[in-house]
Amino acid sequence: MTDFGIKEALKQLGVKEINNGTATGSDNFSNGALIESYSPVDGKLIGKVKATSKEDYEKVMETAGEAYLSFRNMPAPQRGEIVRQFGNKLRELKEPLGKLISYEMGKSLQEGYGEVQEMIDICDFAVGLSRQLNGQTMPSERPGHVMREQWHPIGVVGIISAFNFPVAVWAWNTSLAWICGDVCVWKGSEKVPLCSIACQNIIAGVLKENNLPEGISSIINGDHTVGEMMTKDTRMPLVSATGSTNMGRIVGATVAQRFGKSLLELGGNNAIIITPTADLKVVVPGAVFGAVGTCGQRCTSTRRLIIHESVYDKVRDAIVGAYQQLTIGNPLDEKNHIGPLIDQDSVNTYLAAIAKAKAEGGKMLVEGGVLTGEGYESGCYVKPAIIEADNHFEIVQHETFAPILYLMKYSGEVENAILQQNGVAQGLSSAIMTNELKEAEKFLSYAGSDCGIANVNIGTSGAEIGGAFGGEKETGGGRESGSDAWKVYMRRQTNTINYSDELPLAQGIKFDL
Ligand code: NAD
Repeated sequence: MTDFGIKEALKQLGVKEINNGTATGSDNFSNGALIESYSPVDGKLIGKVKATSKEDYEKVMETAGEAYLSFRNMPAPQRGEIVRQFGNKLRELKEPLGKLISYEMGKSLQEGYGEVQEMIDICDFAVGLSRQLNGQTMPSERPGHVMREQWHPIGVVGIISAFNFPVAVWAWNTSLAWICGDVCVWKGSEKVPLCSIACQNIIAGVLKENNLPEGISSIINGDHTVGEMMTKDTRMPLVSATGSTNMGRIVGATVAQRFGKSLLELGGNNAIIITPTADLKVVVPGAVFGAVGTCGQRCTSTRRLIIHESVYDKVRDAIVGAYQQLTIGNPLDEKNHIGPLIDQDSVNTYLAAIAKAKAEGGKMLVEGGVLTGEGYESGCYVKPAIIEADNHFEIVQHETFAPILYLMKYSGEVENAILQQNGVAQGLSSAIMTNELKEAEKFLSYAGSDCGIANVNIGTSGAEIGGAFGGEKETGGGRESGSDAWKVYMRRQTNTINYSDELPLAQGIKFDL
């Protein structure tokens, strides 16, 4: 049977059978226990990675701290040049890296390539930004004075990432942090450790070619215990953490305890509102890709469809019909739409959610279940399910990281749909399908969607890097990627400069000596 070029991809990326999961630049070392990485695609062992011990972590932080002292001296546009070279290496290695992502995480090959493209795009964005880390000047109230604002690097940035975007989230953070003059220590998800190894190999090569210090980019590996070393570490002024709301609650509180900054990118519970004028040609692919893409394992996956009662039957039938066309199987085989869930725990969570939805009164429109037999040996392939439900069901209020779509009705005006859309604890992504200008604008207004992302006539998933990415409420409030998200990787300094011969005080205060 074909291995879809996986062996060759691992070779090209320098991923071995046993890998050191702790690396600062080109220097690999680690002493922790071995983490085994099994593919959800076929259940086979892909490779092993040594976890990071406390001693290893100390070495990484020392090397990172030293690297920072020299890297911050490098002019920002020159740092941009390093990111440009990194982006070019990613272009060269897009195919093997995309394959590894698909094989280790389970997303479709197209989405694997898309994830690498996202890394390339953010590199391009960061290169341009490296000449635009602009502060402002402000008029001073005092004669002969001027005020300005500067942005300085923040230091060693910690990055904690989730399994579902094994590499792009790192690149979103790190390419911006680097042009800002920071150095990065990355703990990827313990579920996809080989993706981190591959990325570290790529950037280590670029740093070496440029004679730059190792420690500008480091990786550490392991579960939450390794993550906790970062969150408690006062040498790490910023921790950017992507993952579940439960994780964010702990990480946010721990980092805040030591007055560090955290950038939290947490779970979503994303809905599409489908109004009477919605165009089914847009609704069906938008909703179906949103619900089943990456097997429902995107933070922006569509979880809920809030459909106007007048078009409910028509929309329901079209979506249920489209589900019959979906093919589930090896994601490296491009004829399949949907790959596996990440692991058995995730399959159990999916099954429990369906059982709970039924117990709460949900009606199955498309039955779920685990697939067995040839091609499904890993036990991680499930059928995408559709359930008619109410927004207040406890299970609907939670993010289940699996392909389960809840359908619900609204009646009357769009405000009623917006109430349902906002009626969950998470606030990441949202969308409205409408051809009514007033409905669209209401949805986008201050009284509309309360999410960080609000779209019109496209689905909830599939963000571009140009906009700031992130969400409100239990999604954590952080913003990454485009717009002015770079500011979180820097510290702001306000300067007042006196070029007069007097010393007038602000607010006209008199202090005569
Ligand atoms: P997870 O919370 O289980 O793990 C995420 C990362 O956090 C892992 O690297 C893990 O080791 C680490 N971690 C867990 N507990 C920690 C602790 N106490 N201290 C330090 N580190 C800790 O999430 P997951 O299952 O890998 O990913 C799925 C979740 O991520 C979903 O909820 C999804 O919505 C969310 N997600 C959000 C975004 C976003 O941008 N908002 C993007 C991708 C994924």
